[in-house]
Amino acid sequence: MSALPQYEVYAVRYATVKRRRSENFISGDLHDGPMPMDYFVWVVRDAHRVWLVDTGFNEQAAAQRAREFLRCPITALSSLGISPEQVSDVILTHLHYDHAGNVDRLPNAFLHVQEAEVHYAVGRHMCFGLLRHPYSVNDVLEVVRGVHADRVRFYDGDAQLAPGLQLVRVGGHTQGLQAVRVHTARGWLVLASDASHFYDNVSNESPFPIVFHVGEMLEGYRRLTALSDTFEHHFIPGHDPAVMRRFPLVDAPGNEIVALHMAPVSDAPFTEGRDNP
Ligand SMILES: [Zn+2]
Ligand SMILES: [Zn+2]
Repeated sequence: MSALPQYEVYAVRYATVKRRRSENFISGDLHDGPMPMDYFVWVVRDAHRVWLVDTGFNEQAAAQRAREFLRCPITALSSLGISPEQVSDVILTHLHYDHAGNVDRLPNAFLHVQEAEVHYAVGRHMCFGLLRHPYSVNDVLEVVRGVHADRVRFYDGDAQLAPGLQLVRVGGHTQGLQAVRVHTARGWLVLASDASHFYDNVSNESPFPIVFHVGEMLEGYRRLTALSDTFEHHFIPGHDPAVMRRFPLVDAPGNEIVALHMAPVSDAPFTEGRDNP
């Protein structure tokens, strides 16, 4: 039996926004306080290939939604020696504006997405402002253009993209949300994306309030936790600033990138935002 490949995995921070703890849990939280939210894209690579997990948003989208834009996530890849043309594959965990913009900047990438997510983003549920709000119609249209240019690979559930690199369909947050399970030198990581915004959404079993199906979301927490070697060190939530403190910074002047395939450097408390512990 040949050994599984060991990928490098990076989180690239590109934006942030101030929030309150009480805004980040569907069931509220007695201990309110500041609890900022960071925005990331993730890179998975081996010697042959670069997989970009989500594509972030651009400066214009940040201004429209009053997010603090730190840097273009696609330009930031240059710190890892990656040009936009070199990205051959993009895994879109879902099509929300903060995960699926900038696709037009990646001319050579195939897009890997759950078919249920594309249906959701163009279907009847988008008649509701609550569910439509996190989507940008231009991002969705860019994916539809990709379909017509034969750039999109559709999945219906879990899939193996390459040895040691798997898609895990979760749903919950959106109808077709998928997480990414990836094998590294220190074991199996799960890039949860918006299957869980913060570590504490899982720890408290209390979803972030943007949710299509609460039951699927809760089941996703247990499933993804079971697919990670450990929750503490191998489960990577989609928006938690603690990720930047827990993993080693890559030497990347002007950018903020941590190496998730390396051992954690801190066991600092996961999540901020308790005025009254
Ligand atoms: Zn989302
Ligand atoms: Zn998100």
